[in-house]
Amino acid sequence: MTDVPQDPCAHCEEMMQPYLDHILTEAERVEAEQHLDECDWCRRRYRFEESLRTYVRQVVTEPMPSELKAKLAALRIPLE
Ligand SMILES: [Zn+2]
Repeated sequence: MTDVPQDPCAHCEEMMQPYLDHILTEAERVEAEQHLDECDWCRRRYRFEESLRTYVRQVVTEPMPSELKAKLAALRIPLE
């Protein structure tokens, strides 16, 4: 195991959105949860992101305009 990320928080940051989308592999999910368990900063960030999503889900009851969708997509970390 030599491919330990230099900065676990940066790695966690990368996994945050896919983690919230529940599209991580099992191993990645475990890794993200382990980090969230140890890292106060990322845990707070995760809670913030999650509450934001819950809020958005409640507010958005009709299909999002494609312009807004594009804006939100641009804020996301690319998956590849
Ligand atoms: Zn962290």
